[in-house]
Amino acid sequence: MEKLARKQVQQLTPYLSARRIGGTGDIWLNANESPYSNEYSPALNELNRYPECQPEELITAYASYAGVSADQVIATRGADEGIELLIRAYCEPGEDAILYCPPTYGMYAISAETIGVERKTVPLTDDWQLDLAAIRQSLDSVKVIFVCSPNNPTGNLVDQQDIKTLLEMTQNKAIVVIDEAYIDFSPESSVSELIRSYPNLAILRTLSKAFALAGLRCGFTLANQEIIGVLMKVIAPYPIPKPVAEIASEALSEAGRARTKRQVLDLNANKAYLQAGLSILDGVTVFDGWGNFLLVKFPAGDAVFKAAWNEGIILRNSPVEDCIRISVGSREECERTLSFLRSYLES
Ligand SMILES: *Cc1c(COP(=O)(O)O)cnc(C)c1O
Repeated sequence: MEKLARKQVQQLTPYLSARRIGGTGDIWLNANESPYSNEYSPALNELNRYPECQPEELITAYASYAGVSADQVIATRGADEGIELLIRAYCEPGEDAILYCPPTYGMYAISAETIGVERKTVPLTDDWQLDLAAIRQSLDSVKVIFVCSPNNPTGNLVDQQDIKTLLEMTQNKAIVVIDEAYIDFSPESSVSELIRSYPNLAILRTLSKAFALAGLRCGFTLANQEIIGVLMKVIAPYPIPKPVAEIASEALSEAGRARTKRQVLDLNANKAYLQAGLSILDGVTVFDGWGNFLLVKFPAGDAVFKAAWNEGIILRNSPVEDCIRISVGSREECERTLSFLRSYLES
């Protein structure tokens, strides 16, 4: 039956997520998941009825958290669905293109490929910022531009003035999508307030990282009302299951937000601990990171990755040479990882 599939689809290789790569271990620091497993007990009644397409309580709660108005929010099945909706809504397959700046998150390319939309890449500069001159030269037929900040896997923030320049350069031509999946770890660096000034700005958010709800599959796109209206045309009729809306609303309640804030503080402290411990090791460079992960350069990254893997410490190798991405786990996970790496490198 494979031959019956669209040609594009026959040629696809599925996204190699951390989950699909597998491995056996007791320390999982490869998917930027939260180490906190918070408990919820959603009401499970009235499941005979379809849910609201955009559960009002959830939308209001996220708008309040993000400091935007309710008509500037659409809830999706994870931020990943937001990526797909933006491409499907704005790019004509076979005609239009998306543009992104590697090294960065893999799903922009995968979604475009699945939909049959051309991908253009303009690599980040040596200090992982936007190469605005090269982007300007590559804008032909580009309808959606993805910029990830804090960037996965490098961890750095993208300069806000550059984001404004990009928004101006593309006004009336392309949507600029700022992927803020990790912004809850550095909330002061969000560009959400630019939504008021730039009609071509969209921002991706998720409950998967700081809110410790990767298993829930709940994300949001923030943008002006007009973009939200366009996305509403292509979203599925019932994307958010009732129990998902209930749990997400609880996570976004005052108490839920306070708990997330405490957990973010703890994880940022663990990140500082890991960074301090790793950076004093010979030949190791730790790049400053604004999310819940660090990109770390070793003398021989692949060997370190495999040695950790064999020890049951599952990290993520990265496209950046000799670099490994390490998610910030519990203090104990950070201690065990650090102590393994220290003894491995000193042996
Ligand atoms: C994890 C991640 C996402 C996807 O988040 P989900 O809400 O779990 O789909 C999007 N963008 C980046 C950069 C991520 O790292």
